[in-house]
Amino acid sequence: MLKLESVSVSFPTAGGVIQPVDKVSLEVEKGGRHVLIGETGSGKSVLLTSLLGLSGGEITGHIFWKNRELAGLPETEYAKIRGREIAYIPQNGAGSLNPLMKIGRQIGEPLQVHRGASRKEALAAAVEALRELDFQSPEYWARQYPHRLSGGMRQRVLVAMGTIAGGELLLADEPTKGLDTDRREEVARRFRQFPGTALLCVTHDLEFARAVGERISVLYAGQIVETAPAAAFFDAPLHPYAKSMIRSLPEHGFQSAKGFAPSHRDYGGLGCRFAERCPEAGDACGKSPPLLQFGERQVRCWYAAGSE
Ligand code: SF4
Repeated sequence: MLKLESVSVSFPTAGGVIQPVDKVSLEVEKGGRHVLIGETGSGKSVLLTSLLGLSGGEITGHIFWKNRELAGLPETEYAKIRGREIAYIPQNGAGSLNPLMKIGRQIGEPLQVHRGASRKEALAAAVEALRELDFQSPEYWARQYPHRLSGGMRQRVLVAMGTIAGGELLLADEPTKGLDTDRREEVARRFRQFPGTALLCVTHDLEFARAVGERISVLYAGQIVETAPAAAFFDAPLHPYAKSMIRSLPEHGFQSAKGFAPSHRDYGGLGCRFAERCPEAGDACGKSPPLLQFGERQVRCWYAAGSE
């Protein structure tokens, strides 16, 4: 349904061209839920906004949506797909809502614009969505303006807006940002509620990824370093960076990888981009590893075969 083939995104800067997304390939099946995890700066948000033609970067490679090439699509054509076929939940709850429009109308607007619902029907659906996302007195909150809501409430309003029109694909950027554990579970439940809607979600929240993902990809320094079925991934990741992510979970004692990812400007000319932080690095790692196939998994590590 959604297929990315070697997608790179680059931006000119005063210090030269940077490429925060480097030859990313992945597929999301109809109704499938794919979660892309990575730390801040790994390129995941740039990738997501690029799929919608909103990043402003130069895209190379192919983005196929229902066999139609999206890369290079004119804005007038993109506008017909956004919202109607592909819904988007941005991560900035405060900045993404219209401060002059009441919450209920904003949530219901996609139903009016893309599904021909009346204003009354849209408002009723908005109230229901707020109820499902555990707003107490949803009728009251539907009548409020965004400034009356907390950050976590605004985040859940964005989730309601993104899911209300039931498009074919939902792109979600850090949908649990600022939410506590109970609220994260409500968002996960909402995402699982639409079996016909495919999901591509980017997050650094591993617990949330485990709750919603059927397939997991890990992005590190602009490259996918591992893609695997979710159960296999959380059971036994193969890439050393993915292993460090799993070790950072509470049940493993919060042992995250030491050091920092290289900056965008340092990507060129490196061998493995994780080498400086990698406890398993060996002689081969001065050369950039390709994505290697292991059954249903892909891993970007010269030594992954020994980890199986
Ligand atoms: S290729 Fe080498 S440095 Fe990179 S993740 Fe594998 S072992 Fe570590």
